[in-house]
Amino acid sequence: MITKYPSVLLIYTGGTIGMIENSETGALENFNFDHLLKHVPELKKFNYRIASYQFDPPIDSSDMEPAFWAKLVKIINYNYDYFDGFVILHGTDTMAYTASALSFMLENLNKPVILTGSQLPIGTLRTDGKENLITSIEIAAAKNPDDTPMVPEVCIFFENHLMRGNRTTKINAENFNAFRSYNYPPLARVGIHIKYESNLIRKPDTTKPLKPHFLFDTNVVILTLFPGIQESIVSALLHVPGLKAVVLKTFGSGNAPQKEWFIRELKEANDRGIIIVNITQCSSGAVEMERYETGIQLLQAGVISGYDSTPESALTKLMFLLGHKLSNQEVRYKMISSISGEISKTKH
Ligand code: ASP
Repeated sequence: MITKYPSVLLIYTGGTIGMIENSETGALENFNFDHLLKHVPELKKFNYRIASYQFDPPIDSSDMEPAFWAKLVKIINYNYDYFDGFVILHGTDTMAYTASALSFMLENLNKPVILTGSQLPIGTLRTDGKENLITSIEIAAAKNPDDTPMVPEVCIFFENHLMRGNRTTKINAENFNAFRSYNYPPLARVGIHIKYESNLIRKPDTTKPLKPHFLFDTNVVILTLFPGIQESIVSALLHVPGLKAVVLKTFGSGNAPQKEWFIRELKEANDRGIIIVNITQCSSGAVEMERYETGIQLLQAGVISGYDSTPESALTKLMFLLGHKLSNQEVRYKMISSISGEISKTKH
C-alpha cells in the first residue's frame, strides 16, 4: 500500500543517462542501473520511498519497440496501487514515440508518468541527467492540496520544461534543451520553483480504474512529401502488402501536389481501406485542408486531418487504434478526436 511518504517507481529502460564510455572505442554504451544510482547520492535526501525496476539489458532507445511499450504498461499496471507516480528513464531519440504510445495505452490514467533522460551520461561532470532525474521524481510525487496528483498525465520532463508527452518532439541532438511541445504550452516550468499550469493539465475521471492496453499494429508508414516526388515511389509504397495506414507529412497547412496521378493514388489507396492522415511538415501549427485548393483535393480523396498532431503522436495513435481491430470508420473517427489531449482541434 501507499505509505505516508511519497512513493515513486523508477523504471530504467536505458539511454545516454545511464551510459558509460567504452575505453577502447570511445563510444557510449549502456550500463547498469546501480552505476546510475551511484552517481546520484542526492536521491537519499528525498524523504520518499523510491523503488526501481530496470530493463535487463538496458536498451538504446533506437531499439525501442511496441513490445517494450507493452512491458512498460505491464510494469505500471502491476505497481499502480503501490506508488504515487512513475518515472521512466529513457533514451532521448525515441522518447516522444514512447510518451505518445503510453498516453494512449494507459486509459483513465490518474497518476503521473514522467519520462526523462539526458544528453550527457550521468557519470560525466556537466551531466544534465541528475537535474532531470531529481526534478522528475519531485514532479511524479507532487500532490494538490486535496491530495490528488498534480500531473496525472504521461509527460516528458527535460531541462526546465514539463510537457505533455504526446505533444512533444525531440528537436535538438546537442543542446540540453532537446525537446519542444510546439502546439501545446508546457504543463510546468522549472526554475527556483516548479510552476504548474493547473488549467492546462488534464483532469481525469477519478472514479474510473486504470485500463491498460497492449496491442499495436505496425502496418503503418510515414510518407514525407517533397518537390519532385515520383509516382512510381508513391505508388509502390501505397501498394505494400498489408499496409493499413499512412501518416502523410504535407506542406504548410496541409497542402500537396495537385498532380492527377498523386490524387488518384491517394484516392485508390483510400478506396482499398488504407487510412491516410494529413499532418504538416512544419513544427508548429495545424493542418487546414479547407484553406487551399490543394488541400481540398486531398479531402476529396478521403484523406483525414491530423490537425496539430506531432508525427510521433499520429503514428503511434494509428498503430494503437489499428491494433485494437476497430473498423475503418472507428479508426477514422478516433483519429479526428482527442483521446488523451494529443490534438487541439476536433471536428466530426
Ligand atoms: N541514443 C540514445 C538513446 O536514445 C540517445 C539518448 O539517450 O539521448 O538511447
